[in-house]
Amino acid sequence: MKHYEPRRPYRRDTLLTHLGRRPEAQMGAVNPPVYHASTILSANMAEWEEKRDPKKRFEVVRYGLLGTPTTFALEEALAALEGGYRAMLFSSGLAAITAPLQALLGAGDHLLMADSCYGPTRIFCDRVLKRSGVETTYYDPLLSEGIARLLRPNTKVVFAESPGSLTFETQDIPAIAAAAHEKGALVLLDNTWATPLFFPSFARGVDVSIHAGTKYIGGHSDLVLGAVITTEEAYLRVRGTAADIGHCAGPDDAFMALRGLRTLSVRLERHERNGLQVARWLQARPEVARVLYPPLPEDPGHALWKRDFLGATSLFGVVLKTASKEAVHAMIDALDLFGIGASWGGFESLIQPVHAERLRTATRWAPEGPCIRLHIGLEDPQDLIEDLERGFDALRAAMAA
Ligand SMILES: *Cc1c(COP(=O)(O)O)cnc(C)c1O
Repeated sequence: MKHYEPRRPYRRDTLLTHLGRRPEAQMGAVNPPVYHASTILSANMAEWEEKRDPKKRFEVVRYGLLGTPTTFALEEALAALEGGYRAMLFSSGLAAITAPLQALLGAGDHLLMADSCYGPTRIFCDRVLKRSGVETTYYDPLLSEGIARLLRPNTKVVFAESPGSLTFETQDIPAIAAAAHEKGALVLLDNTWATPLFFPSFARGVDVSIHAGTKYIGGHSDLVLGAVITTEEAYLRVRGTAADIGHCAGPDDAFMALRGLRTLSVRLERHERNGLQVARWLQARPEVARVLYPPLPEDPGHALWKRDFLGATSLFGVVLKTASKEAVHAMIDALDLFGIGASWGGFESLIQPVHAERLRTATRWAPEGPCIRLHIGLEDPQDLIEDLERGFDALRAAMAA
């Protein structure tokens, strides 16, 4: 199935509304149906042989594992939105991270991984990649062109995540990409925080963009899905290996993610506004040392964020001034509206304590006090602020006890 070619250079929100839809091929239905299909029948032997043409492996509907019209629709929409060549889906965001790494790295190869990467990405490198003979070096996410001195002749991949998980460092992706490409390495980016809307990976030099569709794309805390979007050069290498391993995504999750995608722009606009309002209020609190959120002018990554991003989502960190673990727990337990939970990007607000210092090996993370991570949902931000005010009352009471 050919990737989406817009007839006109439509603007982003128009694309979000129309990409991946083919009412004429589905009885006029606005949305693509959910194809529950493993076997795809051929009408005769000529069609059977045509569908088995290796060159058409990802072009035709020939077996459920390799894609159905439901998954192709979401892939088309994601690739066009981010400006990549094509997309492929996975059963989780984590699988969308591990499959391209397995596709592009083999025994004897070297990987540069951001020290601020998502925790399970680190575990995959340290356990699985290591066992297959791939060496990982963690690098300071604040290195820009300076990353050149870490690149070796066998460095095949530089993996970035910006802002970083838990600590929200903004990376200089164009500088990292220039240095990597100079030495023949590909740049992979976990772009989950920004989504395809707020960081145009391919215009910034990325070769492979990775998304946990579980987060903002799904947007309703009810599905687990991953997506990878690549340049034309990287496409068959990554897609071929993913298919060789047997990766695929279920049609119901693809359908729900496509439904989520239709409202991504309007949801993110509100997430951004609410996130900024709550973050600014937190900055002014006496219990708070700093807020880790690049869209804030006080954040060290703000200039890069302003240069490279097109907007902000609503996940950020808060470093508290000295407080006991018990006091932080009392604060979180006193909240009414913030769920204690990890997988963000849904419509609801979340909170959790985080411990980045346990994960870092290339850099040192030494915050002033305990860290918490907030996801700001679509509630009225004033209600969220009043809830957090109750939380801080509980924190102070626990400190005084
Ligand atoms: C959640 C997350 C993932 C993994 O997504 P799952 O669908 O839960 O496997 C990957 N990267 C980042 C940055 C995430 O936050």
